[in-house]
Amino acid sequence: MNHRHDRQPQPQAIDEDVATHVYLCTGCPLGCRLEVDAVDDEVVEVRGFNCRKGDRYGRQEHLDPRRPLSTTIWIEGAAIRRVPVRTAEPVPRDQLVAVVEALRGLRIAAPVKRGEVVVADVLGTGIDVIVTRELPAVGQRDHLTTGQDPPASEA
Ligand code: SF4
Repeated sequence: MNHRHDRQPQPQAIDEDVATHVYLCTGCPLGCRLEVDAVDDEVVEVRGFNCRKGDRYGRQEHLDPRRPLSTTIWIEGAAIRRVPVRTAEPVPRDQLVAVVEALRGLRIAAPVKRGEVVVADVLGTGIDVIVTRELPAVGQRDHLTTGQDPPASEA
């Protein structure tokens, strides 16, 4: 007998307005199967989690699903042509494609520092896009100031 589940609140009488939605929690590798009972946008109950993080995840996933976004954008004046960026917070899922489109034609100039904001409040989401790799301007590179050839991978 599973005593842990015995302590979980049991579903009340079946209500035909209550719909059960199933999500997989991504909070850790365990990947708990969450069942979220909801009436329209009101969550009635979350089941199937093994820690409180799962309860929060189930409610968030049902009401306002979000995903982290990482991509690359063009950079000029650096040793490589594209620099990796990510959103500082997860983006509403229905705005992911629009944010990627907004970043597609963006060009920034070296140097950039890790964590530097390249787009503030992207598309009015309140979320910043930040650089995840430091890149000096090519003129600041040691091998250029010392006259040495750059490594083959950067030539
Ligand atoms: S509910 Fe907790 S234990 Fe289960 S996958 Fe989510 S974070 Fe991991």
